[in-house]
Amino acid sequence: MILRALWIPAFAGMTLAFAAASKEVALDVGHSIATQGAISARGVPEFEYNLALAREVATALERAGLRVRLIGAAGDIADLASRPRAALGADLFVSIHHDSIKERLLEAWQHEGEPRRYYDSVSGFSLFISRENARLAASLACASAIGRVLRAKGFAPSRYHADPVLGESREFADEPNGVHYFDHLAVLRHARIPALLFEAGVIVNRDEELRMRDPAVKQAIADALAQGVGQCLN
Ligand SMILES: [Zn+2]
Repeated sequence: MILRALWIPAFAGMTLAFAAASKEVALDVGHSIATQGAISARGVPEFEYNLALAREVATALERAGLRVRLIGAAGDIADLASRPRAALGADLFVSIHHDSIKERLLEAWQHEGEPRRYYDSVSGFSLFISRENARLAASLACASAIGRVLRAKGFAPSRYHADPVLGESREFADEPNGVHYFDHLAVLRHARIPALLFEAGVIVNRDEELRMRDPAVKQAIADALAQGVGQCLN
């Protein structure tokens, strides 16, 4: 009896300690139903892609033993400041997006009888962090870890954001792993925790849009994110 009485509180304490050690990721679904972000080559709003991928990423993170706080999944967050606010107390803020290119570079085509716009010459993922975020080093460590795992799984960084013509001359924070500085980005600079924005792929690219819909590709991206996040948080 004495042994049992001692054992139960000890076990309960260990369980609590384990639960407290489990890190939490605030997973932000980019854009909303009202402001849907980029429009894909086939006319699908970016928000739909962001939501579908975020759900996959949430599952992968939970499978990896991390807790997930999904932000903006209902599509009703219009202002950017409330996203990092909703992430307070988490260990990492990750905003999920899909990429486009400058409006003036888009070309016209027809898809299922509808006029659509596309640009096939850029593809790949991009990661962004802000030098105005209070946890810059930790943000960079997580972004680099994610980029490294994605590359190891065969995904290539887009790099075009650094280009003065195609992109915005955006400075690299970690060039091989596709991490850029995007200092004034509201969701990153207002976050009081390490924060990064992930562009999974370029949905105005007609081939890449099909890849972004492929369940196996979504799964691979989600697994890479979970692996990278697990590496940087532990
Ligand atoms: Zn976006």
